[in-house]
Amino acid sequence: MQQTIAVIAVNAAGRETASRIAALLPGARLHGRTGRIDDCDVPFAETTAHVRQLFGDGVPVVAVCAAGILIRAVAPLLLDKRAEPPVIAVSPDGASVVPLLGGHHGANRLARHIAAGLKGHAAITTAGDVALGLALDDPPRGWHVANPALAKPVASALLAGEPVRLAVDAARGQSAWISAPGLGTEGAFGIHVTDRAVESTRDLILHPPVLALGVGCSRGATADELKALVADSLADAGYAQGSVALVASLDLKADEDAVHALAAGLGVPARFFTPAELEAETPRLANPSEVVFAETGCHGVAEAAALAAAGPGAELVLTKRKSAMATCAVARSAAALHPQRIGRPRGRLFVVGIGPGGPASRTFEAASAIARSSDLVGYKLYLDLIADISAGKTCHAGAMKAEETRVRQALDLAAEGRSVSLVCSGDAGIYAMATLVFELIDREDLPGWNRIEVSVIPGISALQGAAARAGAIINHDFCAISLSDLLTPWPHIERRIQAAAEGDFVVAFYNPVSKRRREQLPSARRILLGHRPASTPVVLARNVGRDGERITVTTLDALDPADVDMLTVVLVGNSETRTVTRAGKVWAYTPRGYASKWE
Ligand code: SAH
Repeated sequence: MQQTIAVIAVNAAGRETASRIAALLPGARLHGRTGRIDDCDVPFAETTAHVRQLFGDGVPVVAVCAAGILIRAVAPLLLDKRAEPPVIAVSPDGASVVPLLGGHHGANRLARHIAAGLKGHAAITTAGDVALGLALDDPPRGWHVANPALAKPVASALLAGEPVRLAVDAARGQSAWISAPGLGTEGAFGIHVTDRAVESTRDLILHPPVLALGVGCSRGATADELKALVADSLADAGYAQGSVALVASLDLKADEDAVHALAAGLGVPARFFTPAELEAETPRLANPSEVVFAETGCHGVAEAAALAAAGPGAELVLTKRKSAMATCAVARSAAALHPQRIGRPRGRLFVVGIGPGGPASRTFEAASAIARSSDLVGYKLYLDLIADISAGKTCHAGAMKAEETRVRQALDLAAEGRSVSLVCSGDAGIYAMATLVFELIDREDLPGWNRIEVSVIPGISALQGAAARAGAIINHDFCAISLSDLLTPWPHIERRIQAAAEGDFVVAFYNPVSKRRREQLPSARRILLGHRPASTPVVLARNVGRDGERITVTTLDALDPADVDMLTVVLVGNSETRTVTRAGKVWAYTPRGYASKWE
């Protein structure tokens, strides 16, 4: 979808240049920083947040400001160059127009156009593009180059001013990007846009994404069988695998491994339709079947999915082919297909541990799961901790107590085909929501939930963050015990504390004290004092990694519940844990036995 370009002015110095740029781009809107730019289409308060929001929403950005401002704003959001909008920085005098991102996806073209209008210079930095204005080896999303080795000789011929043939047999309306002086009907070299499986030593073969591959299979069909069926069927019909835009099927098949393995092998998305959507294709089917209807609620799966995916004007070019457990069919669209707008993907649920605090305690895997999600579900405090990477996403913030409601909501959103991150603090599987996800899936056994692709993303737990701040207190056998008796009866908790005391484990107490629960921590302290010295070091770590972080080292004897709350994790050493003070800082550590070796 081409979005309206945002032309941004951040101060008076860039105001005039921004207006001139907006005038060069039909439909562009002028965005101006409030208080500095009076007369504009879209006022905004803060540049970084505004640029992030636009970028996250896929809006092309042309900003009259230092490149660094834009780089810093979008850096945390960068993930997939083919899905991201162009970002261009322009100097306030209009002399330099710098495409920072999306060079081959519109930014270079846009920068050249702006530079020509401003009589400035477009600072194009992508290879191959400088003289030719065309990147044959980096075609638009979904296109494939069958013989990339020919990209160089063809580009060289064009650069040398020699004529090059251009033949377009597919995606006519989307081939305008292949334009350069010298392209015509003559030449020793050529460019051939086709969905047919052809070979050439003279023509660069470009396959546009015009084929929708519909598939069906019985439960448990192997990926090998489905892949072989598809490869044979395409080869017999003379179509190129490189022109397959997507694999399409019935939503019932969204959790079928073979379908996803096929899509992954072809490097295309798998998208799914409801029985009703496929049933609407019945008049166009070559092989409607009552048996299939009785089983699935639609008269065909492979043919119907191919047609539904390729759209109303499409033609069924390969009717249903069958192997023992699988079927496939192909529909061809006159125009390039955009899989992201077709049917629905298999829903994804990332159960993400974001670490105890902000960006510094977050893993890369957690950040990318969040970046890949359209929806974020979590307690408000945790969503605030990821505000730097949540621009453009739908946030579903809930209250602390409503855990089950949140997990159900996340599962429901994912069942609709959305990508959802269920955001937990610390680690998602330590006193957090990961268990509830599996418990609910197990208990309810709902088809929609069962089809979701679930991934659990680990995070740094509070006990690790806390131990590291205070030295190395858990660096021997340790255990974690939650003192909350909301879900676990107190006698069970007490038994575990007793066992930890007898076993001389270092203990991390989670949920140690709340406004109403004040007795558990003193009881735990009493039990441990029966088995380890009064001088045992204790670390109280409050708000680790967050604003107002406070780390205190005390002793088991002096442990006072008044110093502890729900934002604190309490680490109690074992009988050998010691402290050492250096440069005024007290460190707690638990020896692992080196001393006996030294002595
Ligand atoms: N999944 C989280 C634990 C959630 S239970 C994790 O792995 O860390 C909530 C308890 O965790 C709090 O009562 C507190 O004991 C501890 N906790 C969570 N984040 C903390 C932080 N930033 N600093 C200190 N303790 C924290």
